[in-house]
Amino acid sequence: MKEYQELWDNTLIELSKSYSEDTFNEIFSDVKKVVKFQNGLISVLAPNVFIKTKINKIYIFRIQEILNSLSKEQLRVKFVTAEEITEPVIAQIEPDKVNRMFESNLSSNYSFESFVVGESNILSYRMAMKVAEQPAEVANPLYIFGGVGLGKTHLMQAIGNYMLDKDVNRRILYAQANTFIVDYSKATQSGDMRSFEEKYNNLDALLVDDIQMLEIGKKSQQEFFKLFNDMYHNKKQIIITSDCPADQLKGIMDRLTSRFSWGLTVDIKSPDLKHRVNILKRKVLEQSDKIIEDDVLEYIASNYTNNIRELEGGFNRVLFYGITMNMEININLAKEALAPLLKNRKQNGDNDTYERLMSVIADTYNITIADLLSNQRNSKYVLPRHITMYLLKNIFNLPYKKIGNLLGGRDHSTVLAGCAKIEQELKINNELKMAINSITKKVQ
Ligand code: ADP
Ligand code: MG
Repeated sequence: MKEYQELWDNTLIELSKSYSEDTFNEIFSDVKKVVKFQNGLISVLAPNVFIKTKINKIYIFRIQEILNSLSKEQLRVKFVTAEEITEPVIAQIEPDKVNRMFESNLSSNYSFESFVVGESNILSYRMAMKVAEQPAEVANPLYIFGGVGLGKTHLMQAIGNYMLDKDVNRRILYAQANTFIVDYSKATQSGDMRSFEEKYNNLDALLVDDIQMLEIGKKSQQEFFKLFNDMYHNKKQIIITSDCPADQLKGIMDRLTSRFSWGLTVDIKSPDLKHRVNILKRKVLEQSDKIIEDDVLEYIASNYTNNIRELEGGFNRVLFYGITMNMEININLAKEALAPLLKNRKQNGDNDTYERLMSVIADTYNITIADLLSNQRNSKYVLPRHITMYLLKNIFNLPYKKIGNLLGGRDHSTVLAGCAKIEQELKINNELKMAINSITKKVQ
């Protein structure tokens, strides 16, 4: 037990280096005592449910990382309150910490700590951090755009939560663009603007999600224009998300969209395979007390390439399947759990499916889908391109012409030659055989 107490003491030292002094003191100052050790699970006493929940939601990933780096054993950590443990423990509980809950419409799940960073979002993440640290000073407005399910709402709310964490009295409002329209229409219809003004005036930060929706409310655009100017001139932070860059927004007045580029625009792209696996690893730590092997996570991740919400859905399905069937979560179970969904997709044979195959191949060879489609003749690109042709033919039985189209407009004889090359090579090259097998497994 003593060695685990020591391990936890050292973990705390590392944690104090990872977070600001304020954060560390607020969260970890009373999380000192190891109360139990059993089967690789260290139980640490938390002073109250609030701290415990906060650690489990926000800090657990970093904690686990530190523990893994400090110990050779595969250890896990759990936080318990005094009420949860049977042995008498002398705990110093500070109940008034519970009262620090703020009134806000942000979701506390969306934090910077729970946002897994990779190449596709690192720039947006860094800028978001800067904005959160110095609101209205570094970028106003901050305009975040990207495809569905890639983390725009998460990142935007992480900024809000961070600002609130620094100062609980800040007035921060999250509003979807449609909510703004609905609020404004209600106010004008009833002729009573008071509750609208109460909600939207005097804010320290306004987070408007999915601004493209503003298209449907012309009058609301005028009102938003006023609000925007007001906040901008009063040096209050505005954060906007959208499915496209500001200059491509349709049906929104120019004087508004041009203001959106006054500050800074950042975008979030689709995560690569490694990044997607990291996102799942984080979910494992958050949600499951089971250890799930990397090959299972890779299998799930390779089937969901461009929507993190769907990736999470796939993961939850596998987890749920394992729990309800009371079976070990391994690759076979994952395949079984996802089969109905994936089969559906494959039969649809839509571009998404082909893109998924390309993404798996690109990830395997450490290049991008754009490289696959390009005309670059370097062997680094040519082999994966030929493999793509070969697998589009063999898995989906697509006509050569269609494959050529999918691969950036190549003609049918080029595709035929590419497929033949791989077939020849497969007869003598075992490594290639293994690579193709593993790619095929991931997409089937
Ligand atoms: P968007 O607003 O772009 O459609 P969301 O922010 O709603 O996407 O993200 C969809 C889901 O994926 C959410 O549950 C979110 O927490 C999760 N998510 C997105 N990006 C990340 C990330 N980088 N790390 C961890 N979870 C993420
Ligand atoms: Mg969103």
